Amino acid sequence: MMEAIANGWFSELQNDLWPGQAFSLKINKIIHEEKSKYQDIKVIETSTYGTCLVLDGIIQCTTRDEFSYQEMISFLPLTSHPNPRKVLIVGGGDGGVAREVAKHPLVEEIHQVEIDERVVELSKKYLPNMACGFQSPKLKLTIGDGFAFMKTHENEFDVIITDSSDPVGPAVSLFQENYYQLMKKSLRPGGIVCSQGGTYWLDCEHVKNTVNSCKKHFPTVAYAHTTVPSYPCGHIGFVIGCADSNRDLKTPIKKFSKTELDDMKLKYYSSDIHSAAFALPRWVEKSFLSI
Ligand code: SAM
Repeated sequence: MMEAIANGWFSELQNDLWPGQAFSLKINKIIHEEKSKYQDIKVIETSTYGTCLVLDGIIQCTTRDEFSYQEMISFLPLTSHPNPRKVLIVGGGDGGVAREVAKHPLVEEIHQVEIDERVVELSKKYLPNMACGFQSPKLKLTIGDGFAFMKTHENEFDVIITDSSDPVGPAVSLFQENYYQLMKKSLRPGGIVCSQGGTYWLDCEHVKNTVNSCKKHFPTVAYAHTTVPSYPCGHIGFVIGCADSNRDLKTPIKKFSKTELDDMKLKYYSSDIHSAAFALPRWVEKSFLSI
């Protein structure tokens, strides 16, 4: 783990994942720090980004900008499925994705598997606006490894959302090709997977490899992206795969009206944002097409 806390600033240093750059936040107070069985956990009150959750030195979310990520990783796949009744969330220990998935009117059951119960407990204590997702009567939370969980659940889910930390530590297996193979088996016919897929600004090869792994098991694959200022380069992508070869992921099947979006308290996602999220810069498009 590499991070720096000096002169009242937290800096996210990661020589392997983002060499030569660091995002820093001014600290008001370190609210909590501990080493769990799986990772180093810090909760920091920052001066301008609200409360921030840090795992193994990497920012997971801040209360100022988390909604962009949580809404997009949830609503991109949910609105691309005609009837997303049963959803699996892998990771997502802060509860933000569960909060968003629970809003969708067609979702009846949410299963979540998170490896580290301390992340869940600390989020309930210090990030209540995200951890409120755990209170949904639709949700069943399992503490365990997402990769292992997937091996024992076949043909069950309409949508699988992988809200993992970056590919270091316990999350490494969630970026590998055999994880896509397992997810495919866990889906019902026509199902969709959506995973945190990194940013092309940092490592286009890594994004390409993840897209490629998805392509080996799903006939329809796309990469969408959004802005999250507290993530490296202020940018993050999602790799989306669909078991139905005729599905157009760029056009939502379910288009929510402005009133419906307001009722669900969505601040970022809309049908226009959905389609725009799939538009890629030319150099990235060329790079992906050349796979
Ligand atoms: N939105 C965040 C991001 O992109 O950085 C991720 C948030 S969420 C806190 C990530 C969660 O994935 C963590 O709580 C971590 O414990 C969990 N996780 C990592 N590896 C896992 C695995 N193999 N199975 C289940 N959960 C895992």
